[in-house]
Amino acid sequence: MHHGGRSQWWRRPHAWILKRISDQTGVTLERLRRMTLASWASYREDETSERFSERVLTSRVPEWRVFHYAACHECFKSDSTPYVRLLWSVGWVAICPHHGTILTARCEHCRAKLRVSPFRQPACFSPLKCVQCDDELVFAAYQADPRVLSLQQAMLRGKRTASTELDKLGTLTWAEVAGLADALLRGFWKSTTDEERQRLYSQFREDFGFRWLEPPVRYAELTLLAWLTDGWPTSAGAKMGRELLRRWLARQDRTPDNVGHPIDLRQRQTHDAVELRVRERLSQLCRS
Ligand SMILES: [Zn+2]
Ligand SMILES: [Zn+2]
Repeated sequence: MHHGGRSQWWRRPHAWILKRISDQTGVTLERLRRMTLASWASYREDETSERFSERVLTSRVPEWRVFHYAACHECFKSDSTPYVRLLWSVGWVAICPHHGTILTARCEHCRAKLRVSPFRQPACFSPLKCVQCDDELVFAAYQADPRVLSLQQAMLRGKRTASTELDKLGTLTWAEVAGLADALLRGFWKSTTDEERQRLYSQFREDFGFRWLEPPVRYAELTLLAWLTDGWPTSAGAKMGRELLRRWLARQDRTPDNVGHPIDLRQRQTHDAVELRVRERLSQLCRS
């Protein structure tokens, strides 16, 4: 699978970075590697911050080299030195699997997204402080909807092992899961009229008892995805999901999807074969 040629030191660092950290800290390379996403599946840059948000899905400007993350305050409470968990760097992860709380992604004071200081910067980093305004971060501890948590956990299994079981949708590869999320949410943002989208959004809010006026982005998108897939294919949300998927696939017949950055010719064939399989699987789901 294609991982992109760029180094993201916080998720998939170069061997030389690991070697240097290992030399300086005495932590073995093997252990350091387990602290990265190197062995996890990746498809269409799915790790990008707020990957399924309107902003990322409707523009094509990738956010390279900025390590945004979202954090769970409860997790910090048990740390002797608070540290950022690997999972929080996956851009669509919205809920702490241990505490079921919605992760905090922004500073309450300056609204900046949580991020770490650059790798080469010598200053000490603490995840309890905002890198932007230097204030202590304020963490809210809202409980997540169990349906959204269970979707996130199934997606994480897919990402970790390259295959997963989504309730009523069957067994899917990671590429198929990420492709499905892409198709449904792109369909939602791009193949609907403003009026239709508003109507759907209020139905979604009602079905999920979603009370936020300004919801955390990662959580809102994951919840929308849960609404569009939960109870497939007969619930109100899933019916809409199927319709959006159908529209998206029809649209792709005319304009092929070029998600991600350009890849070299050697990778082209593998890439096309994967895309074709994803497409076939999504068409199947449409008919189910
Ligand atoms: Zn936690
Ligand atoms: Zn701040």
